[in-house]
Amino acid sequence: MSNTILLATSNEHKLDEVRQILGPLGFTVQGLDSVGMAIPEPVEDGMTFEENARIKAVSYATAAGRISLADDSGLEIDALGGAPGIHSARFSGVEGSRSERDSANNRKMVSMLRELSEEGSPARFVCAMCLAAPDGRILAETRGEFEGVIVTEPRGENGFGYDPHLYIPDLGLTSAELAPDAKNARSHRGEAVRQMAVLLDAIDLGPGGD
Ligand code: IMP
Repeated sequence: MSNTILLATSNEHKLDEVRQILGPLGFTVQGLDSVGMAIPEPVEDGMTFEENARIKAVSYATAAGRISLADDSGLEIDALGGAPGIHSARFSGVEGSRSERDSANNRKMVSMLRELSEEGSPARFVCAMCLAAPDGRILAETRGEFEGVIVTEPRGENGFGYDPHLYIPDLGLTSAELAPDAKNARSHRGEAVRQMAVLLDAIDLGPGGD
């Protein structure tokens, strides 16, 4: 039986985080570069993380003809009514490389919170994961959350996106100050992947992917 899963993302950080958990459990997690053809990015027009994870998983699974796992994630800030939420990746509207977009998103978030005098707002990363079959069936869905508060001064060099701004009070560190395995042990993605690993045990991944 194959233990190979396609992770429907071009984000190397997500790929690393998922591999770190599923690898030791015997799964091979491959990125989109393993597909050997360009699959057009689906329009993520869902209203929730769950809906967008489903859109991505089904679209890549049917296009690639392989069981696919997708992650839709983002940051919910209480003082901003849950924004940027499902719009986290493109919050600022600035185009460019992933790191240019991340920096612009962080600048916009910081300036909004400073304007509202809401530095320190409670916030959480959310991750919805969906596993879909090549015929479009949803095989499994999970969700994880990672609670903290926003710091407007960035701290730490690890991770990506909003990691330098989510401070975890009981650890005394931001998400970007956590070593990769420490982030995975607490994070939204780590939680969603660990739940997925339990569900994967009961799913026949078939011969595809190898
Ligand atoms: P997605 O790729 O459409 O799911 O968008 C995810 C966006 O949410 C990323 O571009 C980041 O801005 C943010 N995000 C999700 N997970 C994390 C994380 O673990 N750390 C920091 N930012 C994250």
